[in-house]
Amino acid sequence: MSAETGQVRVRFAPSPTGALHIGGARTAYFNWLFARKHGGVFVLRIDDTDRQRSTEASYRQILDSLRWLGITWDEGPEVEGPFGPYRQSERLSVYREQLDRLWEQDKVYACFCSPEKLAEEREQAQREGRAPRYAGHCAGLSLEEQRRRIAAGEPHAFRLRTASTGQTVVRDVIRGEVTFDNRELDDFIVWKTDGMPTYHFASCVDDALMHITHVIRAEEHLSNTPRHVALFQALGVQPPVFAHVPMILAPDRSKLSKRHGATSVEEYREQGILPEALVNYLLLLGFSPGEDREIVSRDEAVQLFDLERVAKHAAVYDVKKLEWINAHYVHNMSPDALLDQIWPELEGRGWTGPDPAREQLAWLRTAVEFARERTRTVRDLPDMLRYYFEAPESYDEKGARKHFRPETAVRLQAAADRLADVRPFGAVEVEKAFRSLISDLGIKGGDLIHPTRLALTGVTVGPGLFDVMVLLGRDECVARMRRAAQWIELNAQS
Ligand code: GLU
Repeated sequence: MSAETGQVRVRFAPSPTGALHIGGARTAYFNWLFARKHGGVFVLRIDDTDRQRSTEASYRQILDSLRWLGITWDEGPEVEGPFGPYRQSERLSVYREQLDRLWEQDKVYACFCSPEKLAEEREQAQREGRAPRYAGHCAGLSLEEQRRRIAAGEPHAFRLRTASTGQTVVRDVIRGEVTFDNRELDDFIVWKTDGMPTYHFASCVDDALMHITHVIRAEEHLSNTPRHVALFQALGVQPPVFAHVPMILAPDRSKLSKRHGATSVEEYREQGILPEALVNYLLLLGFSPGEDREIVSRDEAVQLFDLERVAKHAAVYDVKKLEWINAHYVHNMSPDALLDQIWPELEGRGWTGPDPAREQLAWLRTAVEFARERTRTVRDLPDMLRYYFEAPESYDEKGARKHFRPETAVRLQAAADRLADVRPFGAVEVEKAFRSLISDLGIKGGDLIHPTRLALTGVTVGPGLFDVMVLLGRDECVARMRRAAQWIELNAQS
């Protein structure tokens, strides 16, 4: 709880140097869940002090991806709030003010050591097998001397004075108490020669001024944490509670990268993964909801989430699991919601217009409802509906070899003749007509049903055949069956 605000306050602090990846999205979701669970505040802060690598495009994309995932922020860019601005690039005067305060208190000092000298010392340490640490050349300069040299235009950085004895204990909800030896800590740079704060400094100043109570972030930052604790102490605030969430590894336990396929939220979205499915999957990367549960909605996750139950060990990325979860959500989406998602695509293909008649809408809804069971992603759905709009131009090759036999042509013609008389053209009536023809011809059901499906759709699998036939309508069925019969006469080999 923040003493100032009496609330849990967490932040997600991405650097806008690329797309929002699965790891970042997971960190964002865990922060969001924790805030929601405790009635707290979720802050989005943009760590964009790295001017070379930060881009506006990436900033936009991160906001967009988070919104798409439904991870909405209570304070942050475009929402603003009492502790803004929330882009670090707009807070430089805030950092400078804090730096000057610490300088005044002699908690930081100006360092004039040249990069060459520091590099040389680092190499020397490496040669001698020592961990490189700053030797403290400038630590003894008086404030007057520092000011004089700065006024004379000497390039300089600022360093934090740190303890070189004792230990720093980091309280981490996931990892317990992690102890670091202060000998590993040197007087590190908080302000760079180019006049910009370092990540460590900007991050801790913001966490302090924004009254962040819990820092939930990727495990790779655990090693930075003793520095952050030292900074919080210098700033005169209680360090937040830390929670370092486990890494996400590729299936072969290597670092997850491009070569393992899609890893950015944007790419998943393009592939037809649903936001509900993706956040469900993100939860499982490091958190186990218990009782072997894998389908957990956002609302349920808010109830179940518990930082103390986040795993310490790395999570392994499993694209099959994501696809399985996605299929689950697709199967449970309402036909209308699915239609909403694919509408632009259907219009683009000329399969529907902006103002469909009521009958066409009802018809489309039914087609989507039948197709829904068989699709794994929303993106595949339009292709699965193709045969309702376009007669097949070719037939599945394996299917044709198996089901389009020379004797099939006559059967399809006979079935087409019978369909011409079926009234009304409902699934029950069509089935009845088919069953009676099957018995008249003394063949097995499959001998007519499989070729008919292939004739109508060009493929061998799909929803219930009689349902498909009703949606296609009598004339279209008859025409397609006659066309297939002709095709067989021309092509089928005995
Ligand atoms: N900008 C840092 C990152 O993206 C934030 C780390 C932190 O949460 O402190 O890794």
